[in-house]
Amino acid sequence: MVQKTNMLKYCVFFGRPRIISNSIRNLSSMNDGRVKGRYDVIIAGGGMVGCTLACAMGKRPLLSKLKVLLLEGSPNKKFDIKKEYSNRVVALNQNTKSLMNSLDVWPHVVCIRLQPVRNMQVWDACSDAMITFNSSELLDNDVAYIVENDVLLHAINKELTASVENVDIVYGAQIQGYKLPQSSDAGEDNVVKMSNGDQYSCQLLIGADGANSAVRNAMGVQYVSWKYNHMGVVATLELAEEYENTTAWQRFLPSGPVALLPLDNKHSSLVWSTSPTHAKELLQLSEESFVDALNDALWKQYPRSAGVDACTSWVSSVLKGAGLADGAARQLPPSVCGAAAGSRAAFPLAFGHSTRYVAPGVALIGDAAHRVHPLAGQGVNLGFGDVQDLTEYLGEALYTGLDITHPSWLRQYETSRQRHNVPTQLAIDVLYRLYSLELTPLVLARSIGLQLTNAFRPVKKLIMSHATT
Ligand SMILES: Cc1cc2nc3c(=O)[nH]c(=O)nc-3n(C[C@H](O)[C@H](O)[C@H](O)COP(=O)(O)OP(=O)(O)OC[C@H]3O[C@@H](n4cnc5c(N)ncnc54)[C@H](O)[C@@H]3O)c2cc1C
Repeated sequence: MVQKTNMLKYCVFFGRPRIISNSIRNLSSMNDGRVKGRYDVIIAGGGMVGCTLACAMGKRPLLSKLKVLLLEGSPNKKFDIKKEYSNRVVALNQNTKSLMNSLDVWPHVVCIRLQPVRNMQVWDACSDAMITFNSSELLDNDVAYIVENDVLLHAINKELTASVENVDIVYGAQIQGYKLPQSSDAGEDNVVKMSNGDQYSCQLLIGADGANSAVRNAMGVQYVSWKYNHMGVVATLELAEEYENTTAWQRFLPSGPVALLPLDNKHSSLVWSTSPTHAKELLQLSEESFVDALNDALWKQYPRSAGVDACTSWVSSVLKGAGLADGAARQLPPSVCGAAAGSRAAFPLAFGHSTRYVAPGVALIGDAAHRVHPLAGQGVNLGFGDVQDLTEYLGEALYTGLDITHPSWLRQYETSRQRHNVPTQLAIDVLYRLYSLELTPLVLARSIGLQLTNAFRPVKKLIMSHATT
């Protein structure tokens, strides 16, 4: 529970968003004893995706006329850049970089720190099959950027508070519930009820409140979800040797994928997807044993099928004969020599898909609408794609004189995002399942599939272009 005294009161009336204390300051737009403020848009959830939407609402010409409230449950934390890296990082794609550039957020990230990913190598522990992605070969641009979650959130908030005028922010917001309009014709507002009895109303409510979204629950939409029975073990790793560390490595083990994401020339960030029992063990090991277990995961030879090896080497020779990449130019992953103290943690992993992203006067974005396994580094990028499309369709609707809650633009938003998000989610889920089995025919099929994908540049380009949009 956030204490009243901890709630920040920060108010600059011209040219800055107001950070409002629920309990201390009355809004000028107060309607009656209970309704504290009426807004055009309320964004519930100020994580990376919700804050980005708030920023976009202030930066896009037509949207900046709207009066917006951002409600975030956690307190407003002061950001201090530490020498040690945070254990929570995201791989951001080119599309996200463009969005952040358009909002003037990217230069703040660059000023703090990020690491470009110029190569990516993904390989199978059960065969010789592997695939590489190379920035110069495929995109003439970096494959991705590794950024700590709190660095990105700070950069977004910095821009939001420095140059957005139409957004009020309540940190430590204790939302008790929502009253949503029954139909788009009713002309009713959404009502957000706070635990202290205050209420806020708005025409358009955006649920950016993460995987356990209360907005989604209030919409009463169907949510298809399953747990992976896997935890994502994260840690900040020290590498045994200093080198130009711009490669992301991912090895598919029978027990789940293990990935190293570059942070600088001596450090990488770990995301290791494994069973809850193994994850618990990994968290309890001494640093030395943890590092040994991780090096084993990256280097150990797993039992192989002679039949699979014979077939993959035959495919390799055919590809070589045809002048195509045969996968022989395999790079060796780095050895790990340490894990930063206190950086090991584990997070549950799950799939989630909200069958509807919109309802009358309501829309979902980010993890509130969709959740994926982190093996493809897509989760938050999909959420930023939602922000881009939502602001675009809303801007077009306002430009053509449509109402802010008009069902036509909400439907366009839902269709365009589900067309992109659902196939991506399913592809990630299929990949996860394909690599979690050790049946010989399956290992053979996926190995040859990976070899062929690696050999044909247009296919790789297609994969990359989907992953970066
Ligand atoms: C181990 C791991 C690795 C990952 N790696 C990557 C990666 O490399 N690339 C990638 O793209 N994605 C990655 N992801 C996924 C990514 O972290 C999520 O997709 C992203 O955090 C979702 O952002 P969000 O803002 O939608 O939701 P959240 O980050 O969950 O934010 C929701 C916000 O809403 C607030 N909130 C919730 N309920 C309420 C309420 N009732 N009232 C007020 N506020 C509320 C919360 O306090 C929070 O701030 C990874 C995830 C995991 C677990």
